[in-house]
Amino acid sequence: MKRTKVISAFSIFFVLTLFSADALCDTNEKASTWKAGVARMVITPEQSMWLAGYAARDHQSEGTLHDLWAKALAIEDAEGNQAVLITTDLLGFPKALSDQIRDQLETELKLSRAQIILSSTHTHSGPVLKDALYDIYPLDEQHINIIEQYSNKLVDQIVALAGEAFRSIEPVQIYVHNGVTRFQVNRRNNDASTLNSLTELKGPNDHAVPVIKVVDTQGDLMAVAFGYACHPTVLDGYDYSGDYPGFAQIELEESYPGATALFFMGAGADQNPLPRLTVGLARQYGKELAAAVERVLEEDMRELSPQLSVSYSEIELPLNPPPSKEELLEIAQDSLTYIKRWADNMLDKMEKEESFISSYPYPLQVWQMGDQMVVNMGGEVVVEYAIKLKQIFAFL
Ligand SMILES: [Zn+2]
Repeated sequence: MKRTKVISAFSIFFVLTLFSADALCDTNEKASTWKAGVARMVITPEQSMWLAGYAARDHQSEGTLHDLWAKALAIEDAEGNQAVLITTDLLGFPKALSDQIRDQLETELKLSRAQIILSSTHTHSGPVLKDALYDIYPLDEQHINIIEQYSNKLVDQIVALAGEAFRSIEPVQIYVHNGVTRFQVNRRNNDASTLNSLTELKGPNDHAVPVIKVVDTQGDLMAVAFGYACHPTVLDGYDYSGDYPGFAQIELEESYPGATALFFMGAGADQNPLPRLTVGLARQYGKELAAAVERVLEEDMRELSPQLSVSYSEIELPLNPPPSKEELLEIAQDSLTYIKRWADNMLDKMEKEESFISSYPYPLQVWQMGDQMVVNMGGEVVVEYAIKLKQIFAFL
């Protein structure tokens, strides 16, 4: 049985190899071809908004370094099974907004949760979204109105985008392979302030650059989806931008005119691009990542047989009990404004006798595309998850 090398990535989302292609092909000789369609849309806010990602920011955005995008790659296998990968240059989707989008996709396009990967690149230079991070920033009523308007429009835009991608599906071939690049640094195990004098860095890391290539019947590149397990935290300023993944997508779309490049964030909650904090570095890392993808696109890649299966479940994860009133009163004295704001809001809810959640329905999703396994996990996942899953499901 032929085993192929693992791809990694994550929505936080990674891609793993599970079965051999031969075994799957035997059971489906009539399989003809994949179909795929892509759509993309600028989602840069038209007005100034608070930028999500850093508590230290003290005012709204000032400008735009480059546009933020939402992109959709719709796929259909030889049996007509469908799914859609949606990527967005945003920090992340708050659960309520994610549910709203996926409910609307179910109503309008008859897509189940399992068929939709809704991912964000985790750029720290995108807008704050509805009902997330409200404690972090000093938001007034007008700020919240703008956030809610933007978020509601985003729901409609993403649903329309997915519809557009499905309407444009045509026969394609899909290939996968892993590239590599190494600008990520484990931010828990290395001190960024002494990085220049370090002669070796401590892991763990996941250096894989998983690449999914979609080629039309003319042999032209229609779409390339690629990932990397590293925080988009090069930039901490006040301009909208997709950070290094934004630069990587721009670079690839310039290199392959007509193709759509979609970035998905890997299991990099504990990985930072270091050094960081300049536009030049964000551009450099974007080019490095794009170069890793281009190398893979130009070499032999593994073709996937046109068979798709999807699954999704939510695991009820119990939370620690909430702090007591006394503890919250103490936390409310914290010198950090956002900690104080959070504690005050919790006290306010307690006063109104609102109940606190005691568990969280954690989403876990797996797609099997031919012999390629794609794992999508909610939230921010540290690199050990990708490493462990690769050890369980594939050979490294
Ligand atoms: Zn993060």
